[in-house]
Amino acid sequence: MLKNILNVVLDSACSFPCPGCRKEVPEKARNVFCPDCRTRMKPILPPHCPGCGSELDGVLELCSKCMEFEKRPWDGALALFNLHGLGQQLVHRFKYNNTPELARAFGDMAAEIIAERGIKIDMIVPVPLHWTRTFMRGYNQSMLICGIISVRLGIPCRSLLSRRRRTRQQAKLNRQQRFENLSGAFALKNGVDCRKLSVLLVDDVFTTGTTLAAAAEILRESGPEKLYVLSLGRR
Ligand SMILES: [Zn+2]
Ligand SMILES: [Zn+2]
Repeated sequence: MLKNILNVVLDSACSFPCPGCRKEVPEKARNVFCPDCRTRMKPILPPHCPGCGSELDGVLELCSKCMEFEKRPWDGALALFNLHGLGQQLVHRFKYNNTPELARAFGDMAAEIIAERGIKIDMIVPVPLHWTRTFMRGYNQSMLICGIISVRLGIPCRSLLSRRRRTRQQAKLNRQQRFENLSGAFALKNGVDCRKLSVLLVDDVFTTGTTLAAAAEILRESGPEKLYVLSLGRR
């Protein structure tokens, strides 16, 4: 009897809610998504498209969505999940509902995937937000993810790009408007030199890839040997 009561007390003292579904999980799973949520987040299965990190849906080198675009300015892409259902809800919550704590769970997933794929990365770089947006939101979600990956994998994280002007939200624009909206939006900070480095550029979602492409074009000017991109969700 006493043992049972003790177990209940100990369990409740050592259990934490999953950041996805709020169900209790044991302490060792603290701040990471529970297995149930991981399955519901529609993980991306191999083979992967080097253009966006999504599933390859044909026999071609790139997925059908990437075939519509010019060559992506990077050497490879990783995405954590398909942006539907739970994954989409969680990313939305992360961006718009003041939940910086979700960065830990997303960052852990990202670190896991980078390690699994065996991609060598020397530097992690977040896609910057304009300071007014960071101010309104309270944080740059991509920067938080980079911080977690950095700690997990022991890779330095540097904010090498700046956002020169505020842009309209990409989600509301068509393809041509997306390109125009981002023209001149990013700049390389002074003295950035990425020669001989393999760099990973991180953003939250990958829809058309226009934001990542605009940031990657600028980052390329610093001369990285390899440039990869990572997004949480691919739409
Ligand atoms: Zn869960
Ligand atoms: Zn693709």
